Amino acid sequence: MSTTSTITLEQIAKQPIEVPPHPTWPSLSAEQRDALREHIKRMLVQQNAVLVAHYYTDGELQALAEETGGCVADSLEMARFGSESSASTLVVAGVRFMGETAKILNPEKRVLMPDLAATCSLDEGCPAELFAAFCDQHPERTVVVYANTSAAVKARSDWVVTSSIALPIVRHLAARGETILWAPDKHLGHYVERMTGADLLLWPGACVVHEEFKGFALERLRRLHPEAAVLVHPESPDEVVDQADVVGSTTQLIRAVVDMPNREFIVATDEGIFWKMHQMAPDKKLIEAPTAGEGATCESCAHCPWMAMNSLQNLAAVLESGNNEVQIEASIGERAVLPIQRMLKFAQEHGIGGKQTPAGA
Ligand code: SF4
Repeated sequence: MSTTSTITLEQIAKQPIEVPPHPTWPSLSAEQRDALREHIKRMLVQQNAVLVAHYYTDGELQALAEETGGCVADSLEMARFGSESSASTLVVAGVRFMGETAKILNPEKRVLMPDLAATCSLDEGCPAELFAAFCDQHPERTVVVYANTSAAVKARSDWVVTSSIALPIVRHLAARGETILWAPDKHLGHYVERMTGADLLLWPGACVVHEEFKGFALERLRRLHPEAAVLVHPESPDEVVDQADVVGSTTQLIRAVVDMPNREFIVATDEGIFWKMHQMAPDKKLIEAPTAGEGATCESCAHCPWMAMNSLQNLAAVLESGNNEVQIEASIGERAVLPIQRMLKFAQEHGIGGKQTPAGA
């Protein structure tokens, strides 16, 4: 990519992103599943390893992480847990940027992932070279990137944020008079812009899961469930966010199910989160927000095809083989760690997050 030609947002938006089909896993009998779970537990102990799983992964992986002293969390807490754990191996069940973040923060630890091809449409839509050239065109702006980016993109940023901390960090920067180049999620960026009044130049990326939620279909569903509270992740389009009772990160949405008095909830985020919501509030009724309706393509249908690449089977395989170790070039890791640490320090100073697992989601 030549840095002499001007890069436009239209050019960036036209980049093709290949969305894989949802993988299908061979079914296991109850006995086979139990045997596999026990096998994984033994290997975790033998290898001084912990399982760190995201809320969007299969419920069986989340349960196993909790039973074995690992953690189930959003990406901010996953990063923090990996750093605070005394384990020498972190097994990250999630998508690639989560494994990379764990490795950046813990270069001395072995970080394994069940499938290194598990990526994210936001990460895929923000190639490092194009991003760096775009930043070079806007040197006056502070570069804030969402955690869903590659190590090389993080290395080019001033701040990394997750959805649970984006608002306070951007408010903090705006109060200092800074203007911001935001990447890669345009919907989250637009939400942050509206909530903070900050000046954001938005990279035009999107999550293929959350982009499928449709405002028109949600309106119809709300009429059928007038008592239900609507919970929306801010990677969703404005027309969906505008109908929400609560807009927040995965952890904040789980908290809402527990804390709000409603008996029913319509939930607009990846369906993997339902496992933790059911666990935390078993008496509440959860309804998936619709992905059908006008304009829907149903490429992902409310479940991330990359998160679905994590299973008990490939988790066991990676612990057996030691394959799929996350590697980060040292020069990139040394730069990428700075904006991540800046975020973690900000979170600590402002008392943000710090909770995960059954008792604290
Ligand atoms: S759900 Fe969306 S943002 Fe999350 S990993 Fe999948 S594609 Fe990326």
